[in-house]
Order: sequence, then structure tokens, then C-alpha cells
Amino acid sequence: MSTRRQTVNPKTIIIVGGGVGGLVVANELRRKLPREHRVVLIEKNREHAFAPSFLWLMTGDRKPDKITKPVALLVRSGVELIQAEAKSIDISARSVITSEGSMTYDYLVLALGAELAPDSLPGLAQSAYSFYSFDETKRLRQELTQFNGGNIAIVVCSLPYKCPGAPHEGAMLIADYFQRRGLRHKVHIDLYTPEPQPMPVAGPQLGKAVEQMLASKAISFHPLHKLNSVDGQKTQLLFDAKEPVSYDLLIAIPPHRAPRIAREAGLANETGWVPVDRSTLKTKSENVYALGDIASIGIPGRWKPDVPMMLPKAGVFAHVQAEIVAERIADEIRGRTPAAEFCGTGYCMLEAGEGLAGFAFGDFFAEPSPRLELRNLGRAWHLGKVLFEQWWLSPFGMRRSVLRTALRLGAKAFKIPVSV
Ligand SMILES: Cc1cc2nc3c(=O)[nH]c(=O)nc-3n(C[C@H](O)[C@H](O)[C@H](O)COP(=O)(O)OP(=O)(O)OC[C@H]3O[C@@H](n4cnc5c(N)ncnc54)[C@H](O)[C@@H]3O)c2cc1C
Repeated sequence: MSTRRQTVNPKTIIIVGGGVGGLVVANELRRKLPREHRVVLIEKNREHAFAPSFLWLMTGDRKPDKITKPVALLVRSGVELIQAEAKSIDISARSVITSEGSMTYDYLVLALGAELAPDSLPGLAQSAYSFYSFDETKRLRQELTQFNGGNIAIVVCSLPYKCPGAPHEGAMLIADYFQRRGLRHKVHIDLYTPEPQPMPVAGPQLGKAVEQMLASKAISFHPLHKLNSVDGQKTQLLFDAKEPVSYDLLIAIPPHRAPRIAREAGLANETGWVPVDRSTLKTKSENVYALGDIASIGIPGRWKPDVPMMLPKAGVFAHVQAEIVAERIADEIRGRTPAAEFCGTGYCMLEAGEGLAGFAFGDFFAEPSPRLELRNLGRAWHLGKVLFEQWWLSPFGMRRSVLRTALRLGAKAFKIPVSV
């Protein structure tokens, strides 16, 4: 029987943004596709910082160099890493223009994440600290070490924001930090948010459980507070239709916005985020995918009567979506019918301090609204998060494989759908 060599038509896949989703999609594509196809990753930062660990950086449980790694160490060999800022995308010419030149693609994956926009609220940028970026968290860490008592206001400025659990985790870890310093009785912690309950997307039962966790740590939770501006002179927060609130230390979850280049390329909708098919992650443009925080995915249920719910912006979703996109593109290039679909399942480990964490997981595409299960606070969830951090930041090699196996065994033992 004669074997006929297939004619290879080499393809170029460009991934813009080498954070959680971008790294996974690049590495998965490189693993699945023969070398004649180019996998190009464009990332503006040399160092990757693992966002879930910002909370431990804030409390002094991590040093800055323990939660960062050069991006070059986190990509498989054979991924072409371009350290450059993507400046614009020309969909009709199938090209990406970067600070280092331009290149054309056969497939494009947008994994640019979300931008923080503290200057979009009057007075906020000048007055607030934050644990939502690496540099801001280092600044907050300094401030916390010098703070010996007073009112700490943690404010979710607007929706959507990354990781619906993070503001609550931050509040509990700050409470824990001052407990350890013997100053808890001198520090009042208030958490303000425009939402009607903690993590509304997860439903009323989980919201109640998180409120109870906050209350057990004497953290006051203030729903339905929409911040309009900050008066830095008077150290006051000015909320919509509420009395001004005084603070001594302001920690903000700043407004988020979709990266400009997606909007300018005409891929975004009126919200600025990029709508995608919820199963395939395809945008409206041929061979262009978007995943992770930049993508906008509607889910069943309504937040208010007139506001549909959106899939939360979280690394767990960016990770799984990246695997789906990689599989679909690789299948298409190899002449197979793509079958992988994102099915909306995800989980969240909620750090509660004292080495404990809560755990919730479930189906965000369930009808009529997302269905989540909640597990009791436990040390195992905290250890799982630490293990995941160690796995994520380890370069390819023996150590990474061992950590991956440990994570998979742990997930199997606890019957949870972790993707690593
Ligand atoms: C404090 C905190 C705690 C969190 N905890 C959790 C958690 O416990 N669990 C969880 O699931 N999620 C968590 N998240 C959310 C999670 O980090 C994000 O949802 C996730 O990183 C999104 O992945 P992404 O790939 O979409 O974007 P990102 O990981 O943000 O990556 C985007 C990348 O694009 C790059 N980029 C942007 N613009 C350009 C450009 N023009 N040119 C080139 N490169 C560009 C950026 O430098 C970045 O590397 C947390 C977030 C924060 C802030």
C-alpha cells in the first residue's frame, strides 16, 4: 500500500496577550500542531505575575519575586514569543500591528484581559490603593505595614470586575493580617459594592454564605453602594444617593474596561467587551477568537429585571476556554471537524484567612440560572490554591509534571473539575 504525503499548508496563529488564557492557548497549540505551523504569542510584559497571589503579597505571605516568572519560561519550546505591545488589529488585512512591526495571521486569538481604569472616577486614582495589579499591591503592602488603626474602606467601583470572590477574600485576609499583628480591635473594615449581595452570579445561597463569612470576621458588608467620586481632601467616599462615608485607608477594586485595540478593530459591542459564541469562543470575524476577561458571554438568569448576567471574569474560565480554542483551531488545521465546546463549568476557592478557604463549583450555563455547590471552609481548599500557584509558575519540566499529577489526584479525590 502506498503512503501519500499530505501537502502541508503552513498556518500562522497569532495570540495577542500572554496572560492566563494566552499562555494556555499558545502552549496547547504548540503541543498539538506540527512545527511547520507557527504559534506566535505577543505579550507586552517580560514578567508574568500570578494575580490570585496578589492577596498573599498584600499580607506579606509572598515576596514579589515568588509570584512572578519571565513569560519566556512559561512557554513551550517552539512558541514564538514576541515581546511587544499590540497597537492595532486590521481584520480585513488579517494583520496585527505591534510596537516591533506587523505580521499577518491565519487565525487570531484575543487574550488581552481587562484594563484597570482608576482615572475614570474623579479622585479615585489619587486617593486609593489596590490589590488588583502587581505594582499597586506592592504599594498597598507598604501602607498596610504602617497602618496601626482606623477605618479601612474596600470599594468595588463598578461592574464587571475580575474574580467576583477577590474583594471578599481581600477583606478577610486584611482582617486576618491585623489579627496576627494584634491590632484587629483597632481596625474597622467595610466592604462597599454596587451589587445587591456578594457574588450575585452565584445565587442567593452562596451570597448568604459569603456574607456570613464576612460577618464572622466583623467585616461590614454594604451592598447597593455605587461610588461616584472620592474627596481626597476630606477623605470621603461619595456614593450615589447615600451619605458621604469617611475612611482612613481606601482600597479600590477600580473600574475595568476592555482593551482599546479590540474596540478599535470593531470586535467589541456597545459595552466595549468582545461578544463570542459561548460554546466555540468565536467572534463575529472569521478565524478570530476571544477568550478570558476580554470576552463577553451572556449566561442564563438576570441580575436585575433588565440586566442579563454575564459569565464572571476569572482565570478558571480563561484557562478552560483556552484549551477549547486550541483544540478547535488544531482540529481545523488538521482537517478534522472541531468538536470541543466550552460548557460553562467553573470553580472558585475563596481564601478566608487562617489557612482556610471555601470552595464553590458548578454550571454557569444551567437553566434557569447558574447552579453552584458550596463546600465547607477547609484547609484542603487553601492547600489546593497554593499547589495550583506552584504548578502555574513552574517552568516546563519534572517539577511541573509532579505538581500537575498532585493537582489531578487531589481534584479526583474531592470530585472537582479542575483543568490543569
Ligand atoms: C487579586 C486577584 C485575584 C484573582 N483571583 C482569582 C482566582 O482565585 N481564581 C480565578 O479564576 N481568577 C482569579 N483572578 C482573575 C484572573 O486573574 C483573570 O480572570 C485572568 O487572569 C484572566 O485571564 P486573561 O488571559 O483573560 O487575561 P490576563 O491574565 O490579564 O492576561 C492578559 C495579558 O495581555 C497582555 N496585554 C494586554 N494588552 C496588551 C497589548 N496591547 N499588547 C500585548 N500584550 C497585552 C497583558 O500584559 C496580560 O499579560 C484574580 C484576579 C485578581 C486581580
